[in-house]
Amino acid sequence: MEENKKSLNFIEQIVEKDLREGHNDGRIQTRFPPEPNGYLHIGHAKAICIDFGIAEKYNGICNLRFDDTNPVKEDVEYVDSIMKDINWLGFHWDNVYYASDYFQQLWDFAIKLINEGKAYIDEQSAEDIAKQKGTPTTPGTESPFRNRPISETLELFQKMNSGDVPEGKMVLRAKIDMASSNMHMRDPIIYRVIHIPHHRTGNQWKAYPMYDFAHGESDYFEGVTHSLCTLEFEVHRPLYDWFLDQLADTEYRPQQIEFNRLNLTYTVMSKRKLLELVQEKLVSGWDDPRMPTLTGMRRRGYTPQSIRNFIDSIGYTKYDGVNDMSLLEHAVREDLNKHVTRVSGVIDPIKLIITNYPEDMVEEMETINNPEDATMGSRKLKFSREAWIERDDFMEDAPKKYFRLTPGSEVRLKSAYIIKCTGCKKDEEGNILEVYAEYDPQTKSGMPEANRKVKGTIHWVSVAHSLNAEVRLYDRLFMVEDPFADKEKDFKDLMNPNSLIVKKGCKVEEYLNEAKPGDRFQFQRIGYFNIDSDSTPQNLVFNRTVALRDSWKNKGE
Ligand code: ATP
Ligand code: MG
Repeated sequence: MEENKKSLNFIEQIVEKDLREGHNDGRIQTRFPPEPNGYLHIGHAKAICIDFGIAEKYNGICNLRFDDTNPVKEDVEYVDSIMKDINWLGFHWDNVYYASDYFQQLWDFAIKLINEGKAYIDEQSAEDIAKQKGTPTTPGTESPFRNRPISETLELFQKMNSGDVPEGKMVLRAKIDMASSNMHMRDPIIYRVIHIPHHRTGNQWKAYPMYDFAHGESDYFEGVTHSLCTLEFEVHRPLYDWFLDQLADTEYRPQQIEFNRLNLTYTVMSKRKLLELVQEKLVSGWDDPRMPTLTGMRRRGYTPQSIRNFIDSIGYTKYDGVNDMSLLEHAVREDLNKHVTRVSGVIDPIKLIITNYPEDMVEEMETINNPEDATMGSRKLKFSREAWIERDDFMEDAPKKYFRLTPGSEVRLKSAYIIKCTGCKKDEEGNILEVYAEYDPQTKSGMPEANRKVKGTIHWVSVAHSLNAEVRLYDRLFMVEDPFADKEKDFKDLMNPNSLIVKKGCKVEEYLNEAKPGDRFQFQRIGYFNIDSDSTPQNLVFNRTVALRDSWKNKGE
């Protein structure tokens, strides 16, 4: 029991305690509450994993609630993408709710507060209201409208919603405590006027509730028991509870619990900032494979399991911090290593001619699909006199420690023969055009002589049996760990100019002509790749999901 307890995160501990004590009749209900104003990023995945995870683990339910109380930034495009991304991660909600469905209930609650003398219409400008807020150490100043008659506030509140009041002319404020040590309790604004049509309610409303007012109440209307959110809402909790105290007439209460947000190095994690990159065309869209969005990661070839494993590994705490991008990449590599087929792909090809191999001969070489998983079987790879190899697997004047092809040296062609390099052909400028070698027929993979010791193994693709491909090599989107560290700089000036390198004329084995967008592979010795959605049978396009090894460890220094 003790053992088990240790491995629970602090949220699970709270939930188990509540269950033991029979809070809220032993019900567990959570929600994931995105605002449909952008695509989900991997930070949201952290919230999704705990919201849905807690419900799954404790036989509760988790609903999806769109927090659509601000018509200015919201759109159905985002609603659809959010649902798709949650399902992709492998989670399923019980119900879909929209905070906008509660506009009437919220309005009625506001009227109740007004009637009880707990809310008033303030006609001051936003600047004046801000000035009167005070500071954390000095009390604020009460608004001259604070004690206006209830009847006046009721009338003006109706007017706020009629379309006759311009935006910014008046707001509804809760009457709480202008001297509170918590700034959020100093008569917070709960309604403001917006004239832009709402993506679901159209022109029905002109007065819209603020986040703090709508959020806890939506939790309450739905029966949420544990309202999990990120640490920046910790200071809002007294207000969350204050509203509930005004509203609740039974024992039932939702409880807000805050955890640390996910921040990752070398990227940005805010929908607003990501939208800027999209709108200014600094990336190709929300699904650009360099984006930290779930749609971008999906396109890049990340598996949902690898994202969930990563989130599991970093855990949930009460302290904000930054997680290293290489941890996420490690999780991606680890998952792909177990599951994907190894194939041959040559990114920067040069032709190798095996001069003693018969011109018309073609052999089929047995090759294992995945050494990590015997159930994935093997396939046949065609071998002939001419093969594409990587340009940097040959060097004419090689240093001693170079174990690949250089005149006089022997290497193994993976799954085929041992060959000995005999030279190369160059053009007038000294560029290498072709590499020559001779093979040893006794060293075919599987024969006793094949075990002969050679220092290097290289990959290859038979020229006559190869396909052309475009390969997109991705790197980190930003050059620095924290693009906001230097307040003087615009984060967009810190983008990595080499975050995308497009290689054309790459060669891959024929086997890949049946692959579909999304299919994932390991290009032996290079990295993990998947087929991009831009790919066609005539023009195969691969994304590098992640390199085989972390090259950033030494690079940045
Ligand atoms: P952003 O700042 O990117 O716009 P947000 O918090 O405004 O994010 P919402 O759509 O309001 O986005 O968030 C939905 C849920 O996801 C909230 O519960 C929020 O706390 C959580 N969330 C958002 N960003 C992160 C993050 N980086 N790490 C963990 N949870 C997050
Ligand atoms: Mg937000």
